[in-house]
Amino acid sequence: MIITKKKDIKDILAALEGKETVYLFGCDSCAEQCNTGGQKELDEMAAILTENGKKVVGSSLPAETCYRQLALKDYRNKPEIKEAEAVLVLACGAGVRTVADVADETQPVYPALDSLFLATVERVGRFFEGCSLCGECVLIDTGGICPHTECPKGLLNGPCGGMADGMCEVDTGNECAWVRIYARLKKQNRLDSMKKIAAPKDHSVGTKPKKVLLRNPAGPALKKK
Ligand code: SF4
Ligand code: SF4
Repeated sequence: MIITKKKDIKDILAALEGKETVYLFGCDSCAEQCNTGGQKELDEMAAILTENGKKVVGSSLPAETCYRQLALKDYRNKPEIKEAEAVLVLACGAGVRTVADVADETQPVYPALDSLFLATVERVGRFFEGCSLCGECVLIDTGGICPHTECPKGLLNGPCGGMADGMCEVDTGNECAWVRIYARLKKQNRLDSMKKIAAPKDHSVGTKPKKVLLRNPAGPALKKK
């Protein structure tokens, strides 16, 4: 799940300066669970914009705003979207990007949220970063705990010299990732994995922007509207 937080409303109002009519997009998936882009947040944003002299001409809450076909469906079925002077998206950056691709290129599309990280969801409202999408997973040797993500220094071959009493020297309040990796591998009788020297990270596999084309790989990166 993608974790988001609300932008400062002052920054949003500054971006909307000079625009009178605004259409809102939320996202009924990740942003809804983060309390940043569900129906409640759409209603709150509409009220704030109205108080600040804007006319909110409508809103959409797609099941997943990063899914182009869903945003496109709303653009085709709701003429008021195209008539708005600006679109404000309460979703992660992928959702904003998707709406911006679907919108007419003359229509500005703004983010209302900041996108933070890909989360493991412990339970509703408790989100933890467990993977930073490096493109070359090492969990096979680390007992399912990611040193790239959970060690603030991203060390791949055991702990740094600063670990004290099992705790990370960086002020995270967390146990050292490598202490946890060791403990888990020990329980699994896999401590031999600790002896493997991990090669330097191949950052070329993380080159951006990434894409995966399971269908029509020879086609354009993004289908025209
Ligand atoms: S090594 Fe860590 S950051 Fe890379 S893919 Fe695996 S879990 Fe994600
Ligand atoms: S103490 Fe452990 S988790 Fe913290 S920076 Fe050093 S190796 Fe990484």
